[in-house]
Amino acid sequence: MNVLYKIKPEKVFRFFEEISAVPRGSGHNDKIKEYCENFAKQRNLKNISDDAGNVIIFKDASTDCKSMTPVIIQGHLDMVWEKDDSCNINFETDGLELCVDGDYIYAKGTTLGGDDGIAVAMCLAILDSDDICHPPLEIVFTADEEIGMLGAAALDFSPIKSKRMINLDSEAEGTLWVSCAGGVRADISMPISYKENENQTYIISVSGLHGGHSGAEIHNGYANANKVMGKVLEMLSEKVDFNIVNINGGTMDNAITRDSVCIVKSSNDMIPEFVSEIYNYIKTDYVFADPQIIIRAEKTNGFKTAMSSESSLSVVRILNDLPNGVISMSKEIDGLVETSLNLGILKTEKDYVSFGFAVRSSIDSERDALAEKLKNISDKFSCNIVLYSEYPAWEYKKESELREIMSSIYKDMFNKEMTVTAIHAGLECGLFCGKINGLDCVSLGPDMFDIHTPKEHLSISSVERTWNFLLRVLSNI
Ligand SMILES: [Zn+2]
Repeated sequence: MNVLYKIKPEKVFRFFEEISAVPRGSGHNDKIKEYCENFAKQRNLKNISDDAGNVIIFKDASTDCKSMTPVIIQGHLDMVWEKDDSCNINFETDGLELCVDGDYIYAKGTTLGGDDGIAVAMCLAILDSDDICHPPLEIVFTADEEIGMLGAAALDFSPIKSKRMINLDSEAEGTLWVSCAGGVRADISMPISYKENENQTYIISVSGLHGGHSGAEIHNGYANANKVMGKVLEMLSEKVDFNIVNINGGTMDNAITRDSVCIVKSSNDMIPEFVSEIYNYIKTDYVFADPQIIIRAEKTNGFKTAMSSESSLSVVRILNDLPNGVISMSKEIDGLVETSLNLGILKTEKDYVSFGFAVRSSIDSERDALAEKLKNISDKFSCNIVLYSEYPAWEYKKESELREIMSSIYKDMFNKEMTVTAIHAGLECGLFCGKINGLDCVSLGPDMFDIHTPKEHLSISSVERTWNFLLRVLSNI
């Protein structure tokens, strides 16, 4: 223990080490919630916790800051539990094994939980201190951010009085996030009918694609294997009759699909040759973003039934009609994707085929318009559509006092401009802005790398600079 002893800022790392010993994976909130409650109790700080696992801790302003208005500082308690195959940690009972390598902190064989443990540690260090100048504080620790922002969605906002918030769930020093995308999940299901089919069976596959995160990487132009499969099947249908047995690709709606497989039956034994021709014809489309793409068909065995010709045709048509990828770019922030969607899951069930999308937009009305478009396509093909897990965008505000003050303090401290930007992925700020009218909100954090993987590491010097910046901000707002 005490691997981080004497590393500056000492108090921040002391609490970081303490919470690293507390199991706190998403969905396992009890121990870390209890830790936070005890922390507050020992220091006589008012606190509220709830069944979702959220904890709010309040602290009065320091004596020299009594006239200041309150501020929320926010981070999430849960972390992603990922480990190397060779690591035999029991996440539910064991603490993380921290280690230091030069400027970086790692956890041996596992995720570090710097996302978002460093936010929790900084907040605890502020709450624990009596020599920091700060306005009245409302420290909000949310649960289960990593599995759909469940804590923030369930939070009772009525005890919160602040109209400004500093979220500490970002991972690049010197950058201030001021907007993020909102989203909704859409599941379209197409009823299908099967018939007996004696024809030869073929397996058509699209593979070798790059893939990636459907929020952070949608603008890179990586192909979606399901959409490529749609194109292949459409071109194939112009050459030959076939019936689909099943079609599947992807397991997560927020991951750009890397592989897609379709099993078909046909009386025409030229299927592999035709698919090979199609591959040679279309592969140049992917030469920059996905040069490793492979599309092929080969004979296989099994399957006594296949979809009817009408069902097969409908699947091919809807797959080509459904939009995918970047829909529009922001007019306010250069290079930012405004609206996008990703067909992350294509799955054949017993009597239907389902198409699962993650829809994102930094403008709620655009998100809704895109969902409406999906609904219209779904109706055209007599499918069912379910929209769920909706979360609001954090829309860019033209005027933000926090943004102005923090940018100017940053310039003063580090003699360079702070980068003010937005991300096309979700942050809890959107949910907070939806619940607190007129909330002025920013997000920042120290340099962290390879989050959500066992390679996750956190820069010590960046934590120190970010901490000093945060303290300076707190004494000036
Ligand atoms: Zn996070």
